[in-house]
Amino acid sequence: HAASEEGVCWMVHDPATAKAKEWKLSLLGELDDALEAGHIWVAYQPQLDLRTAVISGAEALVRWTHPVRGPISPMDFVEIAERNGRIGKVTAFVLDRAGAVTRDVLRRNPAFRMSVNLSPSELSSSMIVDVVRSVLARYQIPPDALVLEITETAAIAEGQAALATLNELRMLGIGIAIDDYGTGMSTLEYLRKIPATELKIDRRFTNALLDGPADRAVMVSTIELAHILGLEVVAEGIETPEQLFALAQIRCDRGQGYHIARPMEDSDLKEMIAYPAKVKANG
Ligand code: C2E
Ligand code: MG
Ligand code: MG
Ligand code: MG
Repeated sequence: HAASEEGVCWMVHDPATAKAKEWKLSLLGELDDALEAGHIWVAYQPQLDLRTAVISGAEALVRWTHPVRGPISPMDFVEIAERNGRIGKVTAFVLDRAGAVTRDVLRRNPAFRMSVNLSPSELSSSMIVDVVRSVLARYQIPPDALVLEITETAAIAEGQAALATLNELRMLGIGIAIDDYGTGMSTLEYLRKIPATELKIDRRFTNALLDGPADRAVMVSTIELAHILGLEVVAEGIETPEQLFALAQIRCDRGQGYHIARPMEDSDLKEMIAYPAKVKANG
């Protein structure tokens, strides 16, 4: 980390970067009002069960539609909220919205699972456990309908406290997904310490899948090992029918990506679950 932090210090003297930093910090001051005004909202990207071809879940993705600046990427504001101790409020908001949607969707599909992203710092205390518990109670949803996503680096970097929090969450009965798997340095063997229930393989591997036998072998062996370790496998970033077919063939359990569906508003997700035939006709 030292090297990258050095880089940031140096870059502050670049006026363009300084301006970008100033802009991001100014967002922070607007966060509460944006939540209040409904400018911050949640999109849902459906997940397809590759074994049954049924939409079996969705990932909640936070969105900020700024009235002046337009859409702001979560990559931009999540990080700044995280670094300034404000991410908890965003997470609580996303969990609440996702909880309400899950309650509604479960009436149509009782096997539905909703995934919500956590930031690394949220694992350092057990506050998140209370937030999750209260959302489950508020919407009367079974714990196994909820999955929390964490990146491999998050769980590793936050150490023992993170592991304790993850164990508490897992004990509630909710699922734990390792997000963007393959982008960090850790092996699946190393990740066995984490009480994970699923592995989300980063889209860069989905992207490379059809490049040649070596790339395919990487995916095949990751899926096999994950299965041996009792993890369900979700492929991210499926953009073509060929990728979807190949992943089903090598026994990837679930998939997510633009070819299946883009992130959408809650009303569209509910419609997709209620009228699955329509989805097939469109897709
Ligand atoms: P992620 O958790 O890995 O989410 C997947 C990202 O990939 C999403 O970007 C999604 O829109 C995008 N994506 C989905 N399918 C495809 C595809 O086929 N091709 C390509 N190229 N991209 C695809 P998004 O919504 O911009 O989110 C970016 C990241 O921001 C997320 O990555 C996640 O790390 C973070 N994030 C989003 N919402 C939240 C949140 O509520 N809380 C926290 N802590 N982080 C969030
Ligand atoms: Mg995610
Ligand atoms: Mg991901
Ligand atoms: Mg990703």
